[in-house]
Amino acid sequence: YLMLAIETSCDETSVAIVRGGREVLANVVSSQIETHRRFGGVVPEIASRKHVESITLILEEAFAKAGVGRGDIDAVAVTQGPGLIGALLVGVVAAKTLAMALDVPLIGTHHIAGHIYANRLIGEIVYPALALVVSGGHTELVLLEREGVFRIVGRTRDDAVGEAYDKVARALSFPYPGGPYVDKLAQASEEEVELPRAWLEPDSYDFSFSGLKSAVLAEINRAKMKGEELAQGALAKGFQASVIDVVTTKAMRAAQAFGVRQMLLCGGVAANLGLRERLTALCADAGLPLLIPPPSLCSDNAAMIAAAADLKWRRRAFTPLDMVAWPQLSLEEWSVQD
Ligand code: ATP
Ligand code: MG
Ligand code: FE
Repeated sequence: YLMLAIETSCDETSVAIVRGGREVLANVVSSQIETHRRFGGVVPEIASRKHVESITLILEEAFAKAGVGRGDIDAVAVTQGPGLIGALLVGVVAAKTLAMALDVPLIGTHHIAGHIYANRLIGEIVYPALALVVSGGHTELVLLEREGVFRIVGRTRDDAVGEAYDKVARALSFPYPGGPYVDKLAQASEEEVELPRAWLEPDSYDFSFSGLKSAVLAEINRAKMKGEELAQGALAKGFQASVIDVVTTKAMRAAQAFGVRQMLLCGGVAANLGLRERLTALCADAGLPLLIPPPSLCSDNAAMIAAAADLKWRRRAFTPLDMVAWPQLSLEEWSVQD
């Protein structure tokens, strides 16, 4: 079957056409990064307007790339939440319109389920599995006892990892989004500033990154006040080392405690080379199979939404046409019902 999927939760307009839930025929992503860069972050109102401008063109492009016609589509999936309300609305309205016009089922999909199931586009998921979700808005450990059933066993209590990367990058005067710049700087540096690690309570799988972020900002200010030259690379390396240490250690500990048979890494920050390498090494040592999508499937894209929506398609769990975009959509409640 052919699924058309739409993703507009933040600043990427994306349309994918996927066969059988796994074979990506087209996955067109149009990023608004250039538009938002001069504001140092995503401006919600501008994001919505840009989605409106792009969505029809991106749809055309996806059909052309996939080499299929509108009549070939069997279902329409769309990110229902979480995300920016105005941005989500554009995708949801487009998806409802298409589902109605083509007379095919609609599947409202959870954005983070999409990030997790991006892994199904590259391999087989073995259950129970543990997903380490690291993105711009989320940092979570998600236990999947069975296919399509999500349980959040750990989450950030303040900043998400990507958010912390972007704030540190901004303080170092890098353009938005700064994650990749901090990553490169950290890779290139020999020196490393020792920074704190927020382990929280010994039995907790939760995270906290605001203290680490503050430590970096304090170091930048201290250097400024004293007129010293800032050791940018060493600071970036220390920051990245702390983040990677904490997220991978907690992920491995949870994997052991819950007896999972596979680890899944996902979300925009999963593009981080240092993180990919460390988790790969730790899982190899533990004999735990690991899936990590290629960077293009880590950042926001519609193919991952089709991969998650496939869970509902196979169970005929369709979404009524009167559904609404829902910024607070719960991952656990989005679980399949069987
Ligand atoms: P969410 O998925 O939580 O709703 P989002 O969709 O905005 O948030 P993603 O697109 O999944 O987030 O990820 C974007 C984030 O990933 C940004 O914060 C960006 O800086 C970060 N990021 C991208 N590449 C890297 C990298 N190589 N190292 C660190 N962070 C990175
Ligand atoms: Mg984005
Ligand atoms: Fe995302």
